[in-house]
Amino acid sequence: MSEFLLKPRICFGQDALSVLDELTACHVLLVTDQAMVKFGLAERVTQRLCARGIDWQVWDDVVADPDIATVVRGMKLMDSCYPDLVIALGGGSVIDAAKAVIFALAQTRPEAGRERPCFVAIPTTSGTGSEVTSFSVVKAHAEKLVLVDSSLLPDIAILDPSLVASVPPAITADTGMDVLCHALEAYVSLAASDFSDALAEKVVQQVFSYLPGCWRNGQDLQAREKMHNASCMAGMAFTNASLLGITHSLAHALGGVFRVPHGRANALLMAHVVAWNADYHGQCDTLAARKYARLAHLLDLPASTPREGVTSLLVAIQTLKDEMNMPRGINDTGVNAADFDQRLAEMVAQALRDSCTPTNPREPDARALTELYRQAWSGNIAQCH
Ligand code: NAD
Repeated sequence: MSEFLLKPRICFGQDALSVLDELTACHVLLVTDQAMVKFGLAERVTQRLCARGIDWQVWDDVVADPDIATVVRGMKLMDSCYPDLVIALGGGSVIDAAKAVIFALAQTRPEAGRERPCFVAIPTTSGTGSEVTSFSVVKAHAEKLVLVDSSLLPDIAILDPSLVASVPPAITADTGMDVLCHALEAYVSLAASDFSDALAEKVVQQVFSYLPGCWRNGQDLQAREKMHNASCMAGMAFTNASLLGITHSLAHALGGVFRVPHGRANALLMAHVVAWNADYHGQCDTLAARKYARLAHLLDLPASTPREGVTSLLVAIQTLKDEMNMPRGINDTGVNAADFDQRLAEMVAQALRDSCTPTNPREPDARALTELYRQAWSGNIAQCH
């Protein structure tokens, strides 16, 4: 039996934040970060709570790629002021931190017998789709671990495109490529279904149509709304095609060891993995190759054969990255060559045991992953069997 889970309730559009006025709560914990405070986004939430006389407290020092120490800090705070409503306002890092705190507190303090608080996720990047996934990524030393549990799913996701307008171009590019990567990996995942495929196809079309516009003009709320919805749909696709593929496995390790932002790491690795999954330098007739070709066809690109379709998709990915001035290779991101070589085997070992690896359409070994990292280092798509 297969399953497609529809949760949470999704409120979207330019006035979506107003759903907060419907919620009843006595004490709210707002989980967020310094950027949300600086850009006045946290205040847009707290003003609504104040207007209704709801007591609230802010935890605003979540760091990017939250680690165990961050989660422990959040657990202590939440344990001391146990809220009946948790609102996570921020990018994937903030939402993942809130998820991990709620989950870990329920696991470690069952004797407290407290009800799980209502959990509202408000993404401020169009990237991870964390607001609709049953995953949370937490760093332990230099390794990113993926927590997987359906209780991590928020109760309500609020998609308000005006909250994304302040995202700077480089982060818009990184997070937007993360959306594309979620759709591509969900589409060829071993656990893909008609349901996840339908979402992934729509996402790929919206990313190619609207991401460049968001990058050029962050205030274009129409383009922002399309990308925000695409991010959420990609999250719905991959949480149900559980999980992703080796672009994410390799990106988790690269991000954990060298602090390359998550979306950028995916952007650096994605085309190499597409070529490898498609067996581009061999027969190029795998199921993944045919599915990539179908995506190229949906993008109105030449795709009369799997090979032509995969070529079109690879060119389209590179063109999209170039349009947003993204780095072509890891060697262009400030990572030192000697350090990269020295940590390569460690990253490969992490990627092999990553939870995203088992659903990749082609089973990798250490040699293949090493070669993919080497290709991504230079940015050249070369032969890899
Ligand atoms: P992020 O949350 O780390 O944010 C990146 C930067 O953008 C931060 O400095 C943040 O302060 C800033 N920012 C966020 N919103 C902004 C806004 N509106 N205006 C200005 N600046 C803003 O980045 P992300 O890509 O959203 O999340 C990445 C994290 O999510 C990684 O740790 C990744 O592993 C994880 N992730 C989780 C899932 C999941 O399903 N749970 C899926 C993919 C990735």
